[in-house]
Amino acid sequence: MICKKIKNPFIVLCILFFLNFLSCPRTEASRAEFALGTVCSITLFEQGQSDIYREIFNRLREIENRMSVNIPSSDISRVNAAAGIEPVKVHEDVFRVLERSVHFARLSDGAFDPSVGPVVSLWGIGKDNQRVPAQPEIDEVLPLVNWRDIELDARSGSVFLGKVGMALDLGSIAKGYAADEAAAIIKRAGIKRAIVDLGGNIVVCGEKKDKSPWKVGLQNPGGKRGEYAGIIMANEKTVVTSGVYERYFEQDGFRYHHIFSPSRGYPADTGILSATIITANSMDADALSTAVFVLGCEKGLSLIKSIPETEAVLIMEDKSIIATSAADFILTDKTFYYKK
Ligand code: FAD
Ligand code: MG
Repeated sequence: MICKKIKNPFIVLCILFFLNFLSCPRTEASRAEFALGTVCSITLFEQGQSDIYREIFNRLREIENRMSVNIPSSDISRVNAAAGIEPVKVHEDVFRVLERSVHFARLSDGAFDPSVGPVVSLWGIGKDNQRVPAQPEIDEVLPLVNWRDIELDARSGSVFLGKVGMALDLGSIAKGYAADEAAAIIKRAGIKRAIVDLGGNIVVCGEKKDKSPWKVGLQNPGGKRGEYAGIIMANEKTVVTSGVYERYFEQDGFRYHHIFSPSRGYPADTGILSATIITANSMDADALSTAVFVLGCEKGLSLIKSIPETEAVLIMEDKSIIATSAADFILTDKTFYYKK
């Protein structure tokens, strides 16, 4: 038909090429959207089909809608509203993350505590109402922070918080779970090379074309965003950092950041500026980065050494960088000094 009406073969070729272009699924190297309170960026090298991006971002929003404390209808908000009153049935995503949270709370002797919600709300760090609370206010909420008062019933899939006023906050672990879920979609789609970056929770999937390891920049805690202290080499791993520079405010020369000591109700002050965990599972790495930050260098590293195939890199206030023996880290900013 087209050939009969249009005599010029060059025009016919152009039309065929255009039709072919329209019928081929187009690839998109990378997509970034706002979810989970941060910029989430997914890079699907060479195979970035829009339906896969859509599936990933839909999944991230589904997790946010179930786990956010800022969404009143989320499972976590419903559990918090029923604290001390009644158990609440939750989606299995939420139950899974809570089981793992309690595991890490036990393992870290409460340095990581998903019931830290009342302390987080009191300080309001990153919100319009951020402030340094008076000590009596802190003393009042501290008895509400105790992971042992979280009751999980696996048979009914329900959660009960033992005291009125208790509140869960999964800010330190849910992004890790979401990153694992994004990586699982990528794997199921048969995509060979990809990077998931959920505001500092990074998963590198597959290997680079030349088979060399991925290089993940380690943020300089005192530098501008994207200024690195060094590089971590990783393949098929997650790299997750908790740092003082993510969310904070300054008052009277002090920096008050968002990672709390659950026992003191104050931002953890252990000499660590950032704690990075390198392992296979991003949910675990997320919980551990927070736990190590709160535990401090000595206890934190001994916890990491007790967990197989898990490495840590800590940037300390005195400009030292301390890493576990199998962490593949290269120092690039020589204002720091590195010890293994
Ligand atoms: P991490 O060290 O991994 O976690 C620190 C966060 O964990 C703190 O912000 C606090 O929430 C909690 N925490 C502090 N101390 C402890 C402790 N000792 N043990 C356990 N947990 C602790 N941000 C917004 O501004 N608006 C939003 O609407 C919003 N929605 C979110 C929804 C979801 C589901 C998630 C996961 C995050 C959301 N966020 C939102 C971001 C969130 O508030 C945190 O800032 C972010 O998750 C912190 O991640 P991080 O990697 O910087 O630090
Ligand atoms: Mg964390």
